[in-house]
Amino acid sequence: MKAVTILGATGSIGTSALDVIARHPERYRVHALTAQSNVDGLADLALRFGPEVVVIGDASLEGRLREALRERGATARVAGGRDALVDVARAPEVDAVLAAIVGAAGLVPTLAAAEAGKRLMLANKEAIVSAGALLMDAVRRGGAELLPVDSEHNAIHQCLAGVRAAERDGARLVLTASGGPFRDRLDLDDVTPDEACAHPNWVMGRKISVDSATLMNKGLEVIEASWLFDVPVERIDVVIHPQSVIHSMVEFPDGSVLAQMGTPDMRAPLAYALAWPERVTSGAQRLDFARLGELTFEAPDLRRFPCLGFAYEALRHGRAASAVLNAANEVAVQAFLEGRLRFTGIAATIERVLEAFDPAQPSGIDEVLEIDRRAREVATGMLPN
Ligand code: NDP
Repeated sequence: MKAVTILGATGSIGTSALDVIARHPERYRVHALTAQSNVDGLADLALRFGPEVVVIGDASLEGRLREALRERGATARVAGGRDALVDVARAPEVDAVLAAIVGAAGLVPTLAAAEAGKRLMLANKEAIVSAGALLMDAVRRGGAELLPVDSEHNAIHQCLAGVRAAERDGARLVLTASGGPFRDRLDLDDVTPDEACAHPNWVMGRKISVDSATLMNKGLEVIEASWLFDVPVERIDVVIHPQSVIHSMVEFPDGSVLAQMGTPDMRAPLAYALAWPERVTSGAQRLDFARLGELTFEAPDLRRFPCLGFAYEALRHGRAASAVLNAANEVAVQAFLEGRLRFTGIAATIERVLEAFDPAQPSGIDEVLEIDRRAREVATGMLPN
């Protein structure tokens, strides 16, 4: 029986993971569930899954959470604030931690899980984009097992399973992208938040949905792939594949390509990350090849979707450019969702922040957090009044 902590339990990834866990009560028990401010959602999950601890990121809501648990007859211990998130990520009784907080806010507890040598199921891509070197170093030092949840990286992990180190030399990663809701739309100036969040194939949180619409999501994934699989930027390609059936591919020097396929359902990579090296059922529908029809591929349009290009540039540039890119993107996406910035203003803001702020390579977590804070300040200063 494995004890699991879910950071970001009330979100799209958190609830999908709990759906998989509920299918296998003999294998997994929930140690801790966390949320930022969704008190009722967290209390409902506590009643259903019976964790020992529930953590609310916004510590001022601890009292309301206690009350919500009492109303439901749930009995978990309640804690609040960032230190409590770290505590449940590294608690000795925990075997596996799902990092599913959105944004760089998830960085510190994700690092804590890595340092404590947990099985780290990584969905929180902003953490590895902001602090890739630190996180990979923490995984090595702590002896953690890092299992990617992002469907593309999960696919590559599957394609590389059983491939010897010598065969990996020179391998090229091909990340697939659906192209998002605006693949065929020429004028992106008047896009609304609801249009941007209406993804054609995946149901996700609002921030990653906007990232998918700008293709920044794919850019963040290029950076994530480089850290996870230790592959240089020149050997990471992106191809648009609107059907989202092939989740990513690995091409070997002899021309062979391995692809991983499945229906677009995050429960499949979550089940893989939970059970690896075994396999368990996930609830995802099977692929019906006879009904699939055709699978198509095209090159991404970097002119309409410049964010993907910015991410490649940030990875090439090194230093702290990826952390700055991520922070600027988080600020710009939030402003867009609140109606304070046009859709096309997201890319424009990020480009200006990257030009204005080029800090040196951070040597520790405090420096990463300071760069993140400063980049947010610069980005906020560039938003329209
Ligand atoms: P959601 O917005 O649906 O959920 C985010 C979760 O994080 C919620 O539980 C939320 O709590 C919590 N949270 C938000 N802000 C903070 C904070 N400052 N401190 C602590 N907790 C916080 O996001 P998703 O589930 O869509 O995405 C989560 C992560 O997984 C992202 O990094 C995303 O890029 C990645 N990912 C998501 C995929 C998907 O299909 N959704 C696919 C691949 C990767 P509350 O509910 O209280 O706000």
